[in-house]
Amino acid sequence: MQAKEFKVKWGMAIDIDKCTGCGACMVACQAENNLSPIEDASNKIKVMNWLVVYELSNKKPFPEHDVAYLPRPCQQCGTPPCVSVCPVIATDKNEEGGIVSQIYPRCIGCRYCMAACPYHARYFNWLDPVWPEGMEKALTPDVSVRPRGVVEKCSFCHHRFMMAKDKAIVEGRDPEALADGEYVTSCTEACPNGAIVFGDLNNPDHQVYELARSKYASRLLERLHADTQVYYISRREWVRRQLDNYLDNEKVKG
Ligand code: SF4
Repeated sequence: MQAKEFKVKWGMAIDIDKCTGCGACMVACQAENNLSPIEDASNKIKVMNWLVVYELSNKKPFPEHDVAYLPRPCQQCGTPPCVSVCPVIATDKNEEGGIVSQIYPRCIGCRYCMAACPYHARYFNWLDPVWPEGMEKALTPDVSVRPRGVVEKCSFCHHRFMMAKDKAIVEGRDPEALADGEYVTSCTEACPNGAIVFGDLNNPDHQVYELARSKYASRLLERLHADTQVYYISRREWVRRQLDNYLDNEKVKG
């Protein structure tokens, strides 16, 4: 299937060589998007993290041993497999920027989308959301709290996009021509190393435009042709090789 083209295409360029795996992006995402903590955070089925930082290794012994960290938000596919399988249209590819949305009140919790997502970027609410006493006062008012029984996912902090657009409209500017940095995700803002760059992939005035076109840029499991809006940059060939599961004898791009 051919990805639909939009005037504005919000995307990320994540520089793996700058990421130290500190996890600040994960924490910022949880706080901003009202993800409730659970008692046993090691429970991989029930824990909610819209963005996960994975550790990669070149699997060589010392002294050639090398590691890298891969922050993985929703990849915002151009042809999202999760959208086509949803029986109630609770998820869609937003034509304003290409963000894959999730409409919680429509979700019936069948979890077809979770099975279809090749990046494991969707999460099911097994539990009612509960916050430690006092913490509920710090919830983000623009982000709805999801009930038990629905699927949720990274939205590229869509509420921030709405706010930036509203501001542009009030100021009499074109909401489809936001300046670089006017709308960024919480993970982008939190990264102490500037590893995550966010912006319009179609706008040459945005930093992400050049980065996504770098010879060191590639996408996760690119050969699935999901045409994702998240790019990864690494000057290390073994990292690029792992991003797309290359065979040992295959030539890697870049
Ligand atoms: S905050 Fe930045 S350096 Fe830390 S894990 Fe996330 S991307 Fe990597």
